[in-house]
Amino acid sequence: MTTDKNTDYNQLFLLFFLLSFLISGTLAAQVSPQNQTKIDQCKSLEDDEPLQAISFANGIISKLKNKNKPVYYGHLTGCLGWALAINNQKDESRLQAEQLESLTNTLKDSKDKSSLYMRAGGIFHILGDRVGAVSNYNKAYDVAEKLHLKKELIPILVNLGVLNSELKEHATAINNYNYALKLMQEIEDFRYKPPVLFNLALTLNGQEMFQEGLDIFLQIEEMIDDNWPKGRVSQVYSGFSNSYMGLEDYVNANIYIDKTLKLYNETGVQDDVRIMTEVAQARILQKLGQHDLAKTYVNKAYDYYMNPEIQKGLNHGSNGLGFLASVLNDYGEFEKSVEIYKLSTDLYNKFQESFNKENIAQMQARLINNQQSQELLDLKHKNTIEKLKTEQQQDKNERELLIASIFLVLLTLFLIWLRILNMRLKKVTLRDSLTKLGNRRALNIWLTKNPLKSNSQRKLWMLDLDKFKIINDEYGHDKGDLVLIEVSKFLKSLKTPHNFIGRWGGEEFILITDNIYSENVHQFANKILSGISQIPLGDNQQELNITASIGIADVGVNSKTAWQSSLNKADNALYQAKDNGRNCYVIYAQ
Ligand code: GH3
Ligand code: MG
Ligand code: MG
Repeated sequence: MTTDKNTDYNQLFLLFFLLSFLISGTLAAQVSPQNQTKIDQCKSLEDDEPLQAISFANGIISKLKNKNKPVYYGHLTGCLGWALAINNQKDESRLQAEQLESLTNTLKDSKDKSSLYMRAGGIFHILGDRVGAVSNYNKAYDVAEKLHLKKELIPILVNLGVLNSELKEHATAINNYNYALKLMQEIEDFRYKPPVLFNLALTLNGQEMFQEGLDIFLQIEEMIDDNWPKGRVSQVYSGFSNSYMGLEDYVNANIYIDKTLKLYNETGVQDDVRIMTEVAQARILQKLGQHDLAKTYVNKAYDYYMNPEIQKGLNHGSNGLGFLASVLNDYGEFEKSVEIYKLSTDLYNKFQESFNKENIAQMQARLINNQQSQELLDLKHKNTIEKLKTEQQQDKNERELLIASIFLVLLTLFLIWLRILNMRLKKVTLRDSLTKLGNRRALNIWLTKNPLKSNSQRKLWMLDLDKFKIINDEYGHDKGDLVLIEVSKFLKSLKTPHNFIGRWGGEEFILITDNIYSENVHQFANKILSGISQIPLGDNQQELNITASIGIADVGVNSKTAWQSSLNKADNALYQAKDNGRNCYVIYAQ
């Protein structure tokens, strides 16, 4: 069926995003704070800068030969394996996942053990090895359940749910999502609720349980508030439209798809998503007898997909071409319909071939006993049945095709949603909650991402507010907080791509600059000092003046000891500035 063949592949991507999103929040209890920082650094690179993550993790792992810190070693192996998978180094990645699994087998039951199994499962999963994924997820589940780790059970259940959807065990998938929702209720942590509900509603629609899907979308609609980006609201509307189509309520389907397209116009969306949504609307309009606009949409889509440049970028998962072919056919455009249908079938066959081969090869690689041989036979059997099913269902009716194409569009959008949420969650942990400036963890990541170049003039600036204790004592802690917020706002105004500005702690701030040369230090330091002293902080009764002292040091070589020594130098210079009477700066002199 169109839904199945395309979701196979789409779900892999879905899982990639879902996993990176869900795993990122997991805390490692058995690791020292410094090592935890390393793990976080690696994780912050693994999705967007996999090459950097690979060399970062390898650098540490190669020195940890005796493996006397198995949990730390495990988390880094997980990061390495994940980054290798993202970088499409499949064999190397698989090796890491297998090592991680055997290492995790030797650990005592703990939160880490569960999260490491989950990580191994995630890597197997994005490599397309569902057997490896299931067995690791199940082990993660067992450990988490045994230790009553409800919070950890949620992402495991969601991952198992996605996997169940892939294996077409939709009922189990729905159960897993529902159980995850129940646990969220119990621990009152609703962060994952909207995406999980969204996936549940999609799965219900995919199962042709449209009324149930619609009910869930109604629940989601109630959660929408002004903070929701329009792009996300449009996804929900698109989902509504999908349910209404399934219920053959074309009037409502049209209302919601109209709303979706209107929001796309306001926010912008990828071309293929817009095109496919328009094709879906064409079908609805056809049902409503509005043929002119419908024809415009399908012809536009035909032209789009016939463009060789666009065809190059197509994969079997990101299109609803079978559906477009069917609408063209309805409008008597037989030649065009055949062309599109052929494109769709070619893409699908290519995928199915490689997918089956890969899947079976992976299974063989994992064969150790009879039980697994049996699994292989089952899988082969399943593939045959699926192939037969596909052939039958290629003739299936248009309603199904319509629903399938919208389903695909929504899946694609769901990925983007998760991706954004993931990035936002990562950002939160990198910011100081009071001032919203970067914290020390953000600083470490910045340093990793911006290695010192040999010809650069990196400088470290430590800034400490003067006599801050008095502000707290005289005006109260809240006023003190407000001052910190205002000072941070001013410091943020100095942000450029060439510097880092963060809160070091308390009333101390840290700046790293790459573009302030020695001759400009005086100017920049005075800009900071006068800027801070001019922040309007008074109220009607009293003027409140804030000043700061600054210590400045060069950052020499890009090594850890050099960094530590620059910190000490800047700190020394800062003390001198305080001694010199405050509201001034001192450059550390050798
Ligand atoms: P100096 O000029 O020598 O730096 O004097 P100081 O009073 O600024 O230095 P000291 O280190 O004695 O006091 C710093 C004060 O900053 C003490 C602490 O209560 C206050 N502080 C640290 N973090 C916060 C915060 O988040 N909010 C508020 N309101 N006060 C804070
Ligand atoms: Mg201080
Ligand atoms: Mg101070």
